[in-house]
Amino acid sequence: MNQASIERKVVIVTGGSKGIGEEIVRFLAKNGYEVILNYNSSEHRAKQIQKEIYDNYNNNIHIFKADVSKREEVKRLVNFCIAKFNKIDVLINNAGISEIKLFTQITDFDWNNMLQVNLTSSFYTIQESLKYMISVKSGCIINISSIWGTTGASCEVHYSVAKAGLDGMTKALAKELGPSNIRVNSIAPGIINTGMNKQFSDEEITRITEEIPLQKMGSTLDIARCIKWIIEDEYTTGQIIGINGGWNI
Ligand code: NAP
Repeated sequence: MNQASIERKVVIVTGGSKGIGEEIVRFLAKNGYEVILNYNSSEHRAKQIQKEIYDNYNNNIHIFKADVSKREEVKRLVNFCIAKFNKIDVLINNAGISEIKLFTQITDFDWNNMLQVNLTSSFYTIQESLKYMISVKSGCIINISSIWGTTGASCEVHYSVAKAGLDGMTKALAKELGPSNIRVNSIAPGIINTGMNKQFSDEEITRITEEIPLQKMGSTLDIARCIKWIIEDEYTTGQIIGINGGWNI
């Protein structure tokens, strides 16, 4: 381990191979953070991002395959981080899936899978990270939830439930972990321009954005900038920060 890696903040970003997670990885690496990009299926893309970041910012990020819906794989991810850097300063729970279905058509598999990937994964990553964070009385945890966790989305009940659960976890854990100097916050995006929204036609996107006061989708950079702010802040905890162009006013 070299001196630089001891001083730089170490961040795990789950689901860092696409969309919002990819931008968070890029933005933090550009700003000198030591980043572990977690991916599940998109290995080729993860390697491309790693190379792009090295070429552009001379920062050698690490990539690690783990399905965060599985406890054993999460353990391997966090153990990799501790073995490499002997610490984890920041955990960003970004990995997620979405699905549009009538409530009456959601199967037991759909329900369980949604909760496992979007909610239980954070139970695993946070528990495993706390084994280190509590011992040093320092840490920052950021959960990427969704506007739908607060307002509810028609035809996305299981998704809304998972994200509402994540926000509940954020608030409860902020209280439990505050005395250990560990901050826990959610970022709840509105609609962000990523592959997750590729099922919407251009007409549907136009109809959605007309409902948003700022009249546009958010960008992945909007989320990444807020992530950096939360990491660098020292007094914000238990908050659900809506980045949604005013959609929920
Ligand atoms: P995306 O482009 O579909 O990317 C999803 C990422 O999650 C991918 O990197 C994927 O990795 C990873 N992932 C999925 N399942 C995983 C698993 N079991 N283990 C590890 N990684 C897994 O989605 P996005 O739009 O960037 O969304 C990121 C987060 O923001 C999600 O939690 C989503 O719910 C939330 N969000 C998005 C929006 C939006 O409008 N885009 C709005 C509100 C909230 P692989 O490809 O390697 O499998």
